Amino acid sequence: MGFRQLLATAFALNVPPAAILILLAASDQITWGLAVVCALAAYAGVIGILRIYFKDLRSVARYASTLRDHFRGTPPQHLSFDAAAELSSLYTQITAAFRERILTLEAQTSTDAEILDHLPNPVVMVNRQRTVTGFNQAAKSLFHNLETGHDLTRYIRDPILLDAFDMVSSGRRTLQHTEFVVASDAQRHFDVLTAHLPAETGNRNFVLSFSDLTELRKVEQMRADFAADAGHELRTPLSVLLGFIETLEGPAKDDPDALGQFLPVMRDQAQRMQSLVEDLLSLARIELNEHTPPSNDCDVATIIDKVAAGLRVKADAKNMNIRVTSTLDQTATIGEEKELVQVFQNLIENAIKYGHQDSTVDVKISLVKNPPAALARYRHSRIMAVSVCDQSDGIAREHLPRLTERFYRVDTARSRAVGGTGLGLAIVKHLVQRHRGTMIIDSEVGKGSVFTVYLPAQTADNVHKLYRA
Ligand code: ADP
Repeated sequence: MGFRQLLATAFALNVPPAAILILLAASDQITWGLAVVCALAAYAGVIGILRIYFKDLRSVARYASTLRDHFRGTPPQHLSFDAAAELSSLYTQITAAFRERILTLEAQTSTDAEILDHLPNPVVMVNRQRTVTGFNQAAKSLFHNLETGHDLTRYIRDPILLDAFDMVSSGRRTLQHTEFVVASDAQRHFDVLTAHLPAETGNRNFVLSFSDLTELRKVEQMRADFAADAGHELRTPLSVLLGFIETLEGPAKDDPDALGQFLPVMRDQAQRMQSLVEDLLSLARIELNEHTPPSNDCDVATIIDKVAAGLRVKADAKNMNIRVTSTLDQTATIGEEKELVQVFQNLIENAIKYGHQDSTVDVKISLVKNPPAALARYRHSRIMAVSVCDQSDGIAREHLPRLTERFYRVDTARSRAVGGTGLGLAIVKHLVQRHRGTMIIDSEVGKGSVFTVYLPAQTADNVHKLYRA
């Protein structure tokens, strides 16, 4: 308040006492001189009080403006009027309450941003003008150079997804799902949910949330390929069989020579189909319980001896020898005997099928000091290795990583000629995985191959370590 206003206020406040003094002087109760002196004294007194009052108010106003600018400040000290002190204290309390609210909001905003950044799904926020107004880290990795302030079409050009956005932004839909493919190094498939956000989210009116479908699509593709491969594998022996049946029903109807000639081939083809169906069923069964570890006790050396004895006839047919050696006294493990028989049967039978005439199949059981990386978590347990080594043409390096894929063969004709289904190693891989083990294949062209199965060995102390992992 200016000085003139101060004088005017003091004057206004002095009007009633001045009127009383004039009345007293006019009725000769006091002299006019005394009345003037009293009026001047009252005027000076009011001015003095008002100055102190306004000084207090100015201090409070200054304090209020520092609070407005910095949200903190030192409240004025030694205020003369209680009302001014109360006002100052109210400002302090209001500011403290606001500060607390702001801190909570800031914490919440940064937590929301952090939560958003930790989401594995890319999320992009867009306003009504289709401008990108926010995104999380996953979105930044998906769309290179993603920045706010640009039109969405700078990053997404897919017309179907943009149509979906238009549907939602025009209010025709509240949300819309669209499949979207990002063609970077490898194709990635996403299900994109475009949704309208509540009005309180400011300039973030719409959200596009991307769920990765790549693995799902891969599995679907693998299933389709597998069904096609299985169908193809079954069709060949089936058409051979049908061909022979037609011949026997037609031109060779009464020809006992043709019958004698065709029947062994028909039996071979039927057996091939039988093996294939058995392997397919086996694989389906194994995949069903692959994630349930076995719980029975069994002994690896005993199993291998049994398998080797069973394959002796096949080995003799090629004048081959199966030699089993072990550097372990104890070869017990937790496992399903039938499944481990299937594992070693497949490996030793392959060694015989693909091994050279008159050669030896060496089966070695040993303990491993440095387990392969896949079994790193069992490094404190005993790991047993069973290697099946053959003397054969070997396998070129580029085929090794694909050998355990279903129906993958290095030489399809040769595999079929020796009665292979192309599923044996896929079955072995799944069975070994169920036993918490792993298989490593090594081969040298012109020398032979080594298929090594690593299995955690059962001992009193590693059993529960093994099954807790
Ligand atoms: P198959 O029934 O055809 O033998 P597998 O799944 O057992 O199917 O093996 C896949 C392919 O791996 C075989 O077709 C063959 O090309 C190759 N293979 C497997 N074992 C051996 C081995 N001991 N020596 C050479 N090649 C092998």
